[in-house]
Amino acid sequence: MSVTMSAIEQLSSLSIEEASALLRKRELSSRELTEACLQRIESSDEAVGSFLEITAELALEQAGRADQRLAAGDDVCALTGIPVALKDIFLTKGVRTTCASRLLENFVPTFDSTVSERLYQAGAVLVGKVNMDEFAMGSSCENSALGNTRNPWDQQKVAGGSSGGSAACIAARQVLGSYGTDTGGSIRLPASYCGITGMKPTYGRVSRYGVIAFASSLDQVGPLATTVRGAAALLETVAGHDRRDSTSIKEPVPDYLGLLEGGVEGMRIGVPRQYFVEGIDPQVASAVHAALARFEELGAQIIEVDLPHSEYAVATYYLVATAEASSNLGRYDGVRYGIRRGGDGALLDMYGATRNAGFGTEVKRRIMLGTYVLSAGYYDAYYLKAMKVRTLIRRDFLRAFEQCDVIAGPTSPGTAFELGSRTADPLAMYMSDVLTISVNLAGLPALSLPCGADSHGMPVGLQIIGKALDEASVFKTAAAYEASTDWHHRLPEISS
Ligand code: GLN
Repeated sequence: MSVTMSAIEQLSSLSIEEASALLRKRELSSRELTEACLQRIESSDEAVGSFLEITAELALEQAGRADQRLAAGDDVCALTGIPVALKDIFLTKGVRTTCASRLLENFVPTFDSTVSERLYQAGAVLVGKVNMDEFAMGSSCENSALGNTRNPWDQQKVAGGSSGGSAACIAARQVLGSYGTDTGGSIRLPASYCGITGMKPTYGRVSRYGVIAFASSLDQVGPLATTVRGAAALLETVAGHDRRDSTSIKEPVPDYLGLLEGGVEGMRIGVPRQYFVEGIDPQVASAVHAALARFEELGAQIIEVDLPHSEYAVATYYLVATAEASSNLGRYDGVRYGIRRGGDGALLDMYGATRNAGFGTEVKRRIMLGTYVLSAGYYDAYYLKAMKVRTLIRRDFLRAFEQCDVIAGPTSPGTAFELGSRTADPLAMYMSDVLTISVNLAGLPALSLPCGADSHGMPVGLQIIGKALDEASVFKTAAAYEASTDWHHRLPEISS
């Protein structure tokens, strides 16, 4: 039994690139790999709680088809035969999609998101849908109405959010790759808390078609994996223009995997003085400083840069994001999607009863805030002002990037916190994103990868931010760091 168990763990611990090499050589089949992942989920998910839905039947069928494709040897790409999970915000035809909300508890989409469609075309294997904060609003995954996700490194701690399930399932080695969405940090923060790599691409790089909308001018899809190369493969597979999303970028997608090597020799890495402010955990600061020193050893030049409007990012975000959310969530009225309550009464009563029963506290708070800042009397004072500050934040980055190629700093001021410790204090929760949010306001690509651990062994994340459309430099910088350290090899011990 223990021999089989360790074989399962070894298989599900493979990186995407290692597994792909074995699949291509036919030394491993996608079916074996998928079965190992399903067993790993079974043995560890009671402790971790990543999954809302496990699509075992679909996965085995897709694995069978991937094996045929691998045997034929043609049309094989980086993800052919690779088991992945999707945040439950992506519409998946015939597979329940809840956004972790009571409102959509039994919602089964009739069409696929562009992301799931492209994954299926590539021959990837969908193992299931993973937990998140309800409608992606949160930083800890504790706002899910449908499940509790715990940090694989310490099950008393949060996995981070909102893509908590997407990060936990990678850290727990339950699947090889996953996708999340990042509106204010929701990929990078849980990646940092769970000790893995997560990337938010440039706004518009990946289609939002079939992704349940939170704040449409900020939402962006991105990958999570144990390695930088894995994340690059995941992104390359789904990125690129889609006529069904008018904000998706028409530019061709660079060959991220091909541009990954090359190192940081001669690169200029900007470090914002505002990112090491008061309130940052000294252990996080020292791990990140050590990573910066490593970059210097690798031949990069470290330059201090200024992002003077950083202190307004959280306030600006909570005006823009809530305004957009209040509008986007208007569609959940009990008529078109999800549950319906009070259907026998007057129409307005039915709306009220449905929304009251369907939405959790945080979602209601956002809708009220957003409705308020958009109301006639307050629009100029709040929403319009926030839009102006957003422009200033974007300009800060443009100016900083005149002096450097990428920007680096911590992903979050701290490591994963105790479950329940911030649920009663929304502001404390919002501040977890203080170092990730401005990147969304500016629409830039950014990645988090592990660069250390605190005295309790909890992972520390290093954030690397790029110029618009320059995910390639972000990946290259991250890959150079990863190649010179072992943090990505560290494995959590999950007591089940
Ligand atoms: N934590 C932030 C929020 O609650 C960001 C969430 C996200 O990126 N989806 O809005």
